[in-house]
Amino acid sequence: MLIDTHAHLTFPEFTADLPEIIARAKAAQLEAIINIALDNEAINQSFKLAEEYPGYLYTALGLHPHEASQWRDTDYQRFQQLATRHKIVALGEMGLDYHYKLSPLEQQKKVFRKFLQLAQEVDLPAVIHSRDAAQDTLDILREENQGKLRGVLHCFAGDMKLGQAALDMGLYISFTANITYPKADNLRQAVKSIPIDRLLIETDCPFLAPQIYRGSRNEPAYVIKVAEKIAEVKGLSYEEVALQTTANAKHLFQI
Ligand SMILES: [Zn+2]
Ligand SMILES: [Zn+2]
Repeated sequence: MLIDTHAHLTFPEFTADLPEIIARAKAAQLEAIINIALDNEAINQSFKLAEEYPGYLYTALGLHPHEASQWRDTDYQRFQQLATRHKIVALGEMGLDYHYKLSPLEQQKKVFRKFLQLAQEVDLPAVIHSRDAAQDTLDILREENQGKLRGVLHCFAGDMKLGQAALDMGLYISFTANITYPKADNLRQAVKSIPIDRLLIETDCPFLAPQIYRGSRNEPAYVIKVAEKIAEVKGLSYEEVALQTTANAKHLFQI
């Protein structure tokens, strides 16, 4: 049993063969997939997908920092209403991306704050994206956390100042298959230092295929490679990693 806690199944890379992808995920012992809808178009598609795969596909709703420019003043209320819909298990992804800077930084910060406020108001976990923005992410998390924040730092990039602060706030930390890349020693070091009961696994597919499939499309079934690498790095059995990360995901997303 495994759960891919972060997949983007509404991406065009998956339109041609999604049923096969879901079948392969089931064959790989995945018991659920959290589909992350990161813009308005993906949100609409994600509702349809969740209907097609009841009890298997769950939805997180948000605006990726790349899409922060899409935010409108009425969006707080709009997302508040959407969040009450069936099978919504999280808000996000939300956060800061200073690597590509596709939305103005001030807008990214504003929208991140709004989602953190809303997550606590509607009591859903926050799926947080932070790239080349560790310090601002940390400052905003500290300022906006009213003691009720639950969530996960997804696709963790290895900054342990942010990582430790997230752990201290009770957040989970999620790793993708980039921990299998030869140069990712800093990530493997982070895997080693974070307790297993605070770890989640994800693919972030279609991105970040594991090393053996690198350069091709990633998909939920490959989350097995993340669990294998965590087991190897931490000196645990694969079964232990699978059981514990699945229990962590169920606890956080209440599925
Ligand atoms: Zn992300
Ligand atoms: Zn993502």
